[in-house]
Amino acid sequence: MATSAEFQAAIKPGTKAEWTQLEYTVPELVRSGDSVQIDHPCGYRLVSALPHDAAVGTKIYVSVPAASRPFPPLVAVKAEAIVGSTIGGIPAYSSTALKVVEWKADAEKCQLCSSTFGLFHLRKHHHCRECGASVCSNCSPTFKCVPGYTAEQRVCSGCAAAAGLGAEASSSATPVGSATPLTA
Ligand SMILES: [Zn+2]
Ligand SMILES: [Zn+2]
Repeated sequence: MATSAEFQAAIKPGTKAEWTQLEYTVPELVRSGDSVQIDHPCGYRLVSALPHDAAVGTKIYVSVPAASRPFPPLVAVKAEAIVGSTIGGIPAYSSTALKVVEWKADAEKCQLCSSTFGLFHLRKHHHCRECGASVCSNCSPTFKCVPGYTAEQRVCSGCAAAAGLGAEASSSATPVGSATPLTA
């Protein structure tokens, strides 16, 4: 599992992150502070407060950054299960807290290996969709789930390693742990 998960993406300038609306049916009466937990397929635990007066069966819609894979079922969590900003010991981010970082433009050299980009070099210029770095093909062989995109995206070797993906690894899922159901 990624240890210092930053809930962020680098989006091409002039475009926007894509968002998905998830439907959720409230399973039982909720109190103030009860929430719904959304384990984002990219490996982030998200949380959204439930309306405190929601009735059983009330449908709510939660807006979350899109993903290249299906979302697992949403799970209700009681207020007391949220400790600081963690649930089950895992950092939980607001469902809308996606941080869009700058997509660095027009670097002359790869920010990782310092290879020069250009017509007469085999090294093509790419951008990491997670941190925004300007990198060459050699330094960005991995595609992975990035929040805000509906297809797997190119990331630099640094971001791939932080997500536990090797250079040649296909993008494997990053489970974020067990849910705490709303019971008792
Ligand atoms: Zn490079
Ligand atoms: Zn990166």
